[in-house]
Amino acid sequence: MLDVIVIGDGPGGLSAALFLAKNGKQVTVFGQDKTAMHWAMLRNYLGVPELHGSEFQKIARAQVEAMGGSIRDARVASVARTDGGFTVTLDGDETLQAKYLVLSEGKSPRLSTMLGLEHTEAHGIATDRNGASGVPGVYVVGRLARPGRSQAIISAGDGAAAAIDILSREKGEDVTDWDSPPEG
Ligand SMILES: Cc1cc2nc3c(=O)[nH]c(=O)nc-3n(C[C@H](O)[C@H](O)[C@H](O)COP(=O)(O)OP(=O)(O)OC[C@H]3O[C@@H](n4cnc5c(N)ncnc54)[C@H](O)[C@@H]3O)c2cc1C
Repeated sequence: MLDVIVIGDGPGGLSAALFLAKNGKQVTVFGQDKTAMHWAMLRNYLGVPELHGSEFQKIARAQVEAMGGSIRDARVASVARTDGGFTVTLDGDETLQAKYLVLSEGKSPRLSTMLGLEHTEAHGIATDRNGASGVPGVYVVGRLARPGRSQAIISAGDGAAAAIDILSREKGEDVTDWDSPPEG
């Protein structure tokens, strides 16, 4: 069983995967590189003066993989709760299990509604401030959770908050992911 399956490979899903992989969790992201980022020219992502969205995605995907996260080019057909976690079924019927799910489906609430989460056009799916949904173990981040506030940096922040919450729950205490520059 994987620690976490992330569904959606936009900034929300990739950011969650980065934090999880960097902190030693077994995480797999599913997506087919169809994010809206390919239509964006980023000029409002702090620390990145100007970058084509496709280039952002290329860097982000490589960053996740370099940290040990896996990204699979596959569409998730369905999700279901099972004992101790969740079963994810891909197109073609392959199944995988994980203890947690991070849903970053973008504008489509298809899998979230399969799990019984309520979605509205105006407000998306309700979560707490860390992205935890009404279904224990399921986090919802990015555009899916706040359709009227769809910005890349907001989705990435949501993904990071969800990952830190998962790491903190697993450890039983608050986790910070801080690095310092080398001495000298
Ligand atoms: C024309 C345009 C210009 C934009 N310009 C900017 C800008 O300048 N600055 C800015 O901050 N934002 C901009 N945005 C918005 C930005 O693209 C979004 O805020 C961002 O992509 C949202 O990220 P996300 O991770 O929440 O969702 P998304 O990027 O939508 O990612 C969701 C991903 O999940 C995948 N997915 C869904 N269901 C499944 C499934 N069942 N199995 C596998 N994969 C699945 C989708 O294919 C998609 O790749 C722009 C958007 C558009 C359309």
